[in-house]
Amino acid sequence: MRYDAGAVSGQKTFDVAVIGAGVFGAWTAWHLAKRGQRVALIDAYGPANSRASSGGETRIIRMGYGADELYTRWSQKSLAQWKEFFAATQQPLFLETGVLWMGGNEDERLRQTGETLKLGLTALDAASLSQRAAS
Ligand SMILES: Cc1cc2nc3c(=O)[nH]c(=O)nc-3n(C[C@H](O)[C@H](O)[C@H](O)COP(=O)(O)OP(=O)(O)OC[C@H]3O[C@@H](n4cnc5c(N)ncnc54)[C@H](O)[C@@H]3O)c2cc1C
Repeated sequence: MRYDAGAVSGQKTFDVAVIGAGVFGAWTAWHLAKRGQRVALIDAYGPANSRASSGGETRIIRMGYGADELYTRWSQKSLAQWKEFFAATQQPLFLETGVLWMGGNEDERLRQTGETLKLGLTALDAASLSQRAAS
């Protein structure tokens, strides 16, 4: 598919072309633009299209990656930036709810996620869950 970015923006030349306007492409393009780069963000199906895995109204900011601490730290760091971005748009784009994650006692990945996250995690057993649901 031939796409003329200049036809949309009026610009003829760009410093960087980012192909794919899913969350990673859009985020990369936005950060490059903030640094003064002239960026063409190109997507075969347009921005926020339903084929993008990051498109949709039900995506979560995920921090649970077991022992893969790097992803958790990146996600924690990006959440602060997302919140700044959401505030700047003045749109209700983000609803902070927390998450109930269920797993068995032998779930090693869940145990590792808990260790990586350290803060903000409450472990509940079946009895205390039932108690909460009843109250
Ligand atoms: C159904 C689903 C749900 C998910 N939910 C979550 C979630 O809630 N939270 C989470 O952290 N992770 C989630 N993930 C994982 C998440 O999708 C990825 O981590 C991340 O969104 C990928 O972003 P991306 O920008 O690389 O890709 P995408 O969001 O898929 O964007 C790729 C873009 O590239 C475009 N494109 C593709 N080929 C071309 C081409 N040849 N030329 C031009 N454009 C092209 C597409 O049209 C699309 O817009 C989910 C994955 C799936 C499949």
